[in-house]
Amino acid sequence: MTRHVVGIDLGGTKIASCLLDEEGDILKKVILSTLASEGPEAVIGRMKASVYEVVKQANVDRKSILAIGVGAPGPMDIEKGIIKNPPNLPGWVEIPLRDILREEFKLPIGLENDANAAALGENLYGSGKGIDNFMYITVSTGIGGGVVVNGKLFKGANGNAAEIGHTIINFQGPRCGCGNMGCWEAYASGTALARFAREGIESGRKTVIKDIAGNKDIKAEHVFTAVKQGDDFAMELVDREGYYLGVGLANMVNAFNPNCIAIGGGLTHEWDLFSDRMFQVMQERALKANAENLKVVKATLGSDVGAIGAAATAWEIV
Ligand SMILES: [Zn+2]
Repeated sequence: MTRHVVGIDLGGTKIASCLLDEEGDILKKVILSTLASEGPEAVIGRMKASVYEVVKQANVDRKSILAIGVGAPGPMDIEKGIIKNPPNLPGWVEIPLRDILREEFKLPIGLENDANAAALGENLYGSGKGIDNFMYITVSTGIGGGVVVNGKLFKGANGNAAEIGHTIINFQGPRCGCGNMGCWEAYASGTALARFAREGIESGRKTVIKDIAGNKDIKAEHVFTAVKQGDDFAMELVDREGYYLGVGLANMVNAFNPNCIAIGGGLTHEWDLFSDRMFQVMQERALKANAENLKVVKATLGSDVGAIGAAATAWEIV
């Protein structure tokens, strides 16, 4: 019999669930709004509903489903299957998500930090297929990632390993969302890029970024649009973006010595605008022995990486 698993990617804005086969192909996908402000009970209700819906739509034998995997925002305790208190899920405090879902579905439940699950997904089915020492990095509103060491996901003591966005690249740097100062994501995330744009405009830099944003808040995408229009300040900002990414990558390369780093997340839509600079700075700053045989590529699973990664955590436990 064909075997299947279900993956649930729990995010602050959407719940993406998929039914996956052993080749990593999505048979069906269901996306629901998280409506996180309604609190854990309502959100978990929607997670359950999304599983029932995806199984119904895929029209497979219920017995072919061997496990369910969940990728969820950290911090968590994967040993106990508990979600601690993620900043983007208000009201969630020490929620025993794994037990709740196991009780509902009577199936083994995998649980990983979302970025770690994504790394596993890319390693099994995407850009890192067959690569034993692999890193996945997502750059969007924040920076996250996961590390595969000797063919196994490196989870850390309680499942919160590879919070790489909060590695510190300047101990006196700007305040990060985590409360610390000078974190990599406070320099190189999409949010940081938008902040640097705003700060420049406030200090009087001439640029079309503000016109492009109109009456909306300035976002990273507005900066990239301005680059395509030849805007000097925007080009300077994106050059710096590549620089900051490269510096942080050098830290990763020195620490983990992967064969391949795949980069995903919203910013990679504009890969061609910053990747050369990023790669150049990484090569300059990383130890030669660690960087010389390293590949840095764009991740391939795209917006499905969360749900596929979650499903990959289910394959790990069957
Ligand atoms: Zn931080």
